[in-house]
Amino acid sequence: MKLQLSIKQTWHFECPSCKKLDAFEVSHLLKDVREDFGPWYCDNCGIGVKGKVSGGAVAVELSGTRREDTVDLLRLPPQADPLYLVVKGFNIVDTATNEVKGCSKEYWYEAHNCPVNVLSHTEAILTGNDSDPHGIFEYLGSSKITDPEFDGADFSVEDWCTIFPQLRK
Ligand SMILES: [Zn+2]
Repeated sequence: MKLQLSIKQTWHFECPSCKKLDAFEVSHLLKDVREDFGPWYCDNCGIGVKGKVSGGAVAVELSGTRREDTVDLLRLPPQADPLYLVVKGFNIVDTATNEVKGCSKEYWYEAHNCPVNVLSHTEAILTGNDSDPHGIFEYLGSSKITDPEFDGADFSVEDWCTIFPQLRK
């Protein structure tokens, strides 16, 4: 099968601090006549900007704030009631037979999938009669991310204990 390629155009302005060209996307604001935005924070350098989009142009000023990335340690203490997650999933379905293909959901969730990935697809957390149980997590501490290449997946238990001594028993 041979299909036509297409280009989707998006509109951005550069970061006034680090000059990253596509730092801030404004495509969604151009549909309106005039729109205030911000503060938004640059993913590259963290500087905050605010401004207005009008007439196809953008007026930008520094917000006077910047975002500092951290890793934050939370604890889920033992619960009186079980905690339930509603997770966005999917089936792979044979288009000819409508039959669901692939591994079982039990294997997918209980053996194959990293719990971190499961959490990133969570649509709801329920416990007792509460479908939005604020306060289930205890905040234990924060550490600034100083390495721009930081990826938590590379960290061992020992690495995490160095960052968060609270983890040592
Ligand atoms: Zn920047």
